[in-house]
Amino acid sequence: MRKVYLDNNATTPIHPEIAAAIIPFLAGLYGNPSSLHWAGRDVRTYYERARLQIADMIHAHPEEIVVTSCGTESDNHAIKGVANAKQGQGRHIITTTVEHPGVLNVCRYLENKGFTITYLPVDGNGQIEPDDVKRAIREDTILISVMYANNETGTLFPVKEIGAIARERGVLFHSDMVQVMGKIDIDIHSLNVDLASFSGHKVYAPKGVGALYIREGLGIDNLIHGGHQEGGRRAGTENVIGIVAFGAACEIVKKEMQKEYSKIELLRKRLLEGIMERVDHVRLNGHPAIRLPNTLNLSFEYIEAESLLMALDMNGIAVSAGSACSSGSTEPSHVLLAMGIPPVTCQSAVRFSLGRENTEEDIDHVLSVISDVVGRLRAMSPLYRK
Ligand SMILES: *Cc1c(COP(=O)(O)O)cnc(C)c1O
Repeated sequence: MRKVYLDNNATTPIHPEIAAAIIPFLAGLYGNPSSLHWAGRDVRTYYERARLQIADMIHAHPEEIVVTSCGTESDNHAIKGVANAKQGQGRHIITTTVEHPGVLNVCRYLENKGFTITYLPVDGNGQIEPDDVKRAIREDTILISVMYANNETGTLFPVKEIGAIARERGVLFHSDMVQVMGKIDIDIHSLNVDLASFSGHKVYAPKGVGALYIREGLGIDNLIHGGHQEGGRRAGTENVIGIVAFGAACEIVKKEMQKEYSKIELLRKRLLEGIMERVDHVRLNGHPAIRLPNTLNLSFEYIEAESLLMALDMNGIAVSAGSACSSGSTEPSHVLLAMGIPPVTCQSAVRFSLGRENTEEDIDHVLSVISDVVGRLRAMSPLYRK
């Protein structure tokens, strides 16, 4: 059976060149980068080159990059780090209702610790209004955290405008950019952000490595305390294999990005148009134009997304219902609900997220089975009337 992987927003397959780049570190280069002797020095050189590659990917200075264990850790470090360092100035934080759990659940945790959180609403396209951010800022606001692109719908947020507002009002600004890296060029200094989160496994590196951009000169509290690694900002012996892979990913993906973007966008259009031609009662969720090239979120009315996911899986097609982080729960997606979409329509939403390995044949395989699969499930649905 043909296998088609369309869940690249959950994780990406490891790029073959990246797999090759880490082999020397599995078989030979074992030194601790903090050691002063030859074994440590060898590894330190590669480690710092990788930091430079990550910095180059977002046009940052290498000193502005802290390596973490994942995107979620970066979100935690940024938000708790500011909350702890700045709580003397105020305990109010602004975020949105559609953030990744790595941000939302940190905010809920801080609420229990006495912070006040404003959750900004989104419109029907999943878009937020910069004016709403402006209006939400108070005397005691210490941080704004708004993602650059939503992982479920692919909608892009006006991060640059929000950054300008934050800067003008003297409020720190964090953005979860995990889904944007590798898809759109990020010129970090032009976006007026103070902190930004990234994750290796969303850009063809292995799981277990992430990065936090901390603007030069900004001091926030640490999340993990211990040794003096990462310039004293993140303790623990470095994940050398992870960062070498992440660095290689950044260099390779940066080179391929333009070309991949156009290819992936065409494939997404082919998928959307093909589905719309073959199946009725399908709703596109998320902004129709201001969006990531690779993400397609569709509600197939009268069907439970889980049933569709399993039926597609039987045909070798991997997609997700909502996001991977909330699967396992049958709760409708908090992102789609926040957009004002009725709960039953949310529960019929499936996310197709494309990546560099996808081909026209992959899309055509989906199109060859989708109408049968949906038809069969709808025939069983008590809600469906032709
Ligand atoms: C995947 C993802 C994360 C979490 O990254 P991990 O490395 O898996 O912890 C955070 N934010 C967004 C938007 C994501 O898509």
